[in-house]
Formats: sequence, C-alpha cells, structure tokens
Amino acid sequence: MASNAQCSPCSEGGKSMVAFRFCSDCEEMLCKDCVVYHRKFKATKSHHLIEASSIKTTIPLTNKYCTIHKDIFLNFYCVNHDKVCCRACIPKNHQSCKDVIPLEVASQSIKGSYLLADMRSVWKNMNETLCGFDKDQQNNIIDLEKMENNILQQIANIKIDFLKEIEKLEQNFKTDLAVVKSKNLIKSIKTKSSLSNLTALVQKKNQALEFLKENGPNTQLFLELKEQVTEYPEVSKRVQELISSSQRTILKLKEPANMVIPSIGSLIELKEPCNVRYNPVHLSIFRKENEIQLLPGAAHHITNCVATMDNKLLLCNFEYGVNKIYIYTDCKDYATEICLEDQPYAISIFLGTNEAVVTLPNLAYLQLVNTRKMEKSGRVNIDKGCYAVTTFEDTIIVGKHDEIQFLKKDSTTIHIFTLCNMGLIKSVYYFHKEHDIVCRSKHVLRRIKLDFNKSRRCEVHESLQLAKFKDKVQKLSNVEKPCEMTSKYHIGSDVIYQYNISGEGGLAVDEDECLYVCNKSSNQIIRLAKDGLCEVIFSRDVCLENPYSIFFSHNFTKFVISDTLGFIHVFNVKRY
Ligand SMILES: [Zn+2]
Ligand SMILES: [Zn+2]
Ligand SMILES: [Zn+2]
Ligand SMILES: [Zn+2]
Repeated sequence: MASNAQCSPCSEGGKSMVAFRFCSDCEEMLCKDCVVYHRKFKATKSHHLIEASSIKTTIPLTNKYCTIHKDIFLNFYCVNHDKVCCRACIPKNHQSCKDVIPLEVASQSIKGSYLLADMRSVWKNMNETLCGFDKDQQNNIIDLEKMENNILQQIANIKIDFLKEIEKLEQNFKTDLAVVKSKNLIKSIKTKSSLSNLTALVQKKNQALEFLKENGPNTQLFLELKEQVTEYPEVSKRVQELISSSQRTILKLKEPANMVIPSIGSLIELKEPCNVRYNPVHLSIFRKENEIQLLPGAAHHITNCVATMDNKLLLCNFEYGVNKIYIYTDCKDYATEICLEDQPYAISIFLGTNEAVVTLPNLAYLQLVNTRKMEKSGRVNIDKGCYAVTTFEDTIIVGKHDEIQFLKKDSTTIHIFTLCNMGLIKSVYYFHKEHDIVCRSKHVLRRIKLDFNKSRRCEVHESLQLAKFKDKVQKLSNVEKPCEMTSKYHIGSDVIYQYNISGEGGLAVDEDECLYVCNKSSNQIIRLAKDGLCEVIFSRDVCLENPYSIFFSHNFTKFVISDTLGFIHVFNVKRY
C-alpha cells in the first residue's frame, strides 16, 4: 500500500490528509487526528491500528457480514455445523446446536492452529507448483527456439550433403564425357589419314589424265585410260568404304526423365506432459459429527477407545468397580457391554480381524475380545502392570512402568525394551516401517528407535545417551508457542525426540503418520509433524475440555476424543 495513502474519514469530509495508521477492524486509513478520536471512543477504542507505512501487501477484504443478514456481523461460530454465523442466524439455524461460541473465543488459538499451518502449506505448495509450471512453460518457449535452430541446422547440413553428392556426379560425368570425346578424336584422326591417301591417289589419277589429254600422245592416253579403268573399281570401292564406314559423332545430355529431389525429412510434432507435477497438499477438516454422553450420574473414566471396521465403538471404562467395555454402534447408539474381571485400561484391534486385546493393569493377563460377537475370548499371560497397548499384525505391544514388551497371543515374549526415566507408559504407538515406537507417560512423550538385533531385554538408557550426545542436544524453540511442549531434544541415537507434556493418556496417528497428542493442562490436542513442528488441532476454544484419549478409525474418516467428563466426541475427517 502506498505510504502517501489518504485518511478515509477526512477524504469523505472533503479534506485531504496523509494517513498515519490503518484500522484493521474498520478497514480504514486514518490520519493523526482521526487516530486520536479512534482511540478515544468506546466503540473503536479496542480496534487494531497498524502503522500505515508497514502495510506492504494489499489488505485482504474478508467478508465480515452475514450473507443472509447483510448488515449483521459474523460474530459466532457453530462447532456442530462448522459454520460461522451472525446473532440472527442462531435462533433460526442453530437452535439445537450445543456449541455456538463467540468468534473471538473460537479464534483464540488460530495462529497456532493446524488449519493455519496446513492452509499456508497448501498455498505455498500451489504457488511453488505454479511458479515451477511458469518456468517450465518459459523453458519450453526457449526450447522451441532451440529446436527450430537445430532443425534448420540439420536441413542446412542435408543440403550440403546433397550438393556434395551432385558435385560427385558431375565429376564422374565430366570424366565419361572426356573419354568419349577422345575416343572419337582418335577415330577421326585415323579416318583423316586414310582420306589423305585416297585424295592424293584420286588427284594423281586425275592429273595424269589432264596432262596426257593436253600433252600426251594418244597411245599413252589410251594406255593410261585402260589402266585407270581397271583400277577404278578398286579405288571406288575404297572411297565407298571410307565414307560409309565413317560416322559423325553427336553428343547430347539426356536429362533425367523426372528429376525429383528426394525428401529432406519431415517435421514430427510430439506432445509430452510438462515437467511439473502438481502434488496437492492434503487438508484434513474435522467436523463434529456426534457427541455421546455416557449415562449421566454413573461412574466412568473412559481411558481408551477404538472402532471396528463397521464403526462399532468400544470404550474402556477404567472406573474402579465398573469393569466394563461399552459398545456403541455407528459411533452413536449404545448397543451392549462386555463385563471383565477387572478395570480395562486400553484396547487395540488386530487390524483386519474380529479380535481385540485389552489391558487389565491389576491382573496378570491381557483379555482377548471377539469384536463380532462382542464377548471375551482367550487370555494372554503377562505380568501385572500393563497399561498401554497397540498391535501390529498379530504382535501385541504393551507399555508398563519404564518398559515396552513385544509378545505373541500365545504369551511368548519377543522383546522387552527398558526405557529409563519414562515412568508408567499409558499410551503407545508402533511405527513398524521405521521400527520406531512412541510412548507417553504422564509427563513425557518420547519417540525411540528400537534395535531388535540387541539382546532380548535391551536397555534404552536415556541418561547414558544424554551424556553421550550432550553436545548434540538441541533445544527447539517454537516460534508461535502453540503448546507447552517446549523441551524437545534431538539426540543422535535411540531417542529421536522427547517432549514434556501433561495429562495421562491420548496418542493417535493419522494417514500421514503425524502424531496427535492430548495435552491436558492446555486442553489441547496437538499435531506433531515428522519434522517436529506442532500445531493445535483442537483446543478449549472450540469446546474441548479435559480430553483423555483420542484415536482415528481404521480408514481415518473418523476422529474420536473421549474426555474425563463423560463425553465422547466423534469427528468426521474429510481429506481434501
Ligand atoms: Zn476502527
Ligand atoms: Zn482523518
Ligand atoms: Zn445471519
Ligand atoms: Zn449449528
């Protein structure tokens, strides 16, 4: 924006004043005097004034008014509809919506939100792609010029080759012509000598007759004539032979019948796809689909939940003395429950099967559950104290105090990893491709690279590593500080990263293998990208309170949050 912009209110009043500030609420340029008034009046006191000279790009004209009620501000956000609306819209369209909140509240954490981060990478990626495409187009124009020149050069070379070929033909022709000419010359020299002899003979005979006619006696003439008469046929024959055997030589050029110059090649125009590919950045939109309120008044502490392929929700109630898993169909309607011998903490379904495994921390076994019949099946024997559980193929991975154990359904242990200073591991996720495991306890979130080649009981000793890689330890600072996870360490070996967090449970992984973590003290669900950047997915601003556990359904179309207040929030995840 030009630094000599005019004050809008003054311009309307017919005065020309240089603008000094820009009010982003009024979308108006203001002069010094108008700024004073703006800051004085109650209605405009809290407006955001920006230095006019610092505005370099065009100020976006975001629509702030309702499209239905054209003169009313869009001041509310309905979480249930994922829609902004005005106060007049609420009684009309959002009467039964539970979570209609002021825009100011909804937008509180927007600068640290995943949506802002994703949208920015969407535009960044698109812009980079278009720039790349533009460059590719320009390169093609330059290439066209180059290709034209190349072809013209090729044709020039073909022409030179043709000329050389024709010169060669000409040379051959000249040689042939010279041979024919000299042959004829030799022949005519031979004829000439025979001709001279004969001419001399004929003249001699004629002269003899002429002489004897004038001077000679008749007798001699008589004798001469008689002799010449006998000689005559012979001489005549020689003359006849000489003339008839002699030919005139005629040389001509026989031009080629139809001289067609062979083709000098033809132009081929090929089309191929441009060098730039557009790989869109995926944008996930979470829309609240449903909210299940567990039986009010009853005691519940839902510590973990999963969904079957047909969207049956299984909820572990860890509340003392209840010992139940609740089942809800279509992620909304209560169907049945499974009674257990003790409190279930966590559950994991063996992908693609009708079997799940449940941890019962107070008992020395894991409960297997048939998710089709919704009843208990076998048991897997293990020491007490297992909280977290996840599965990979038919392997069970459980988290205990400072320990991760890999085991089979027949209770045989595959591997035990001891993780020092981890505490009681309450959530765990296994990245099988990388052999990485992420585990969380009450205060620590840690990602570790596992080495299965080491002895069966392998210690991943954090303090040792911290000492070993002390010089490599690097504190990452978050620019926008969207969460309280500030103490992340990069450690060269087994520990990939570690965050300080709060709250007990909650770990989920999306389609792009980004980790989602509940952070209780900030009432946030945070997404942790592979590069370590984290963004807020949900926060208290959008009616999230005391989130405890989270998970994505098998096809990533649903995201479920259970809170400690007895609510299960089901979100529909749309990926664009
Ligand atoms: Zn203003
Ligand atoms: Zn003014
Ligand atoms: Zn409206
Ligand atoms: Zn609504």
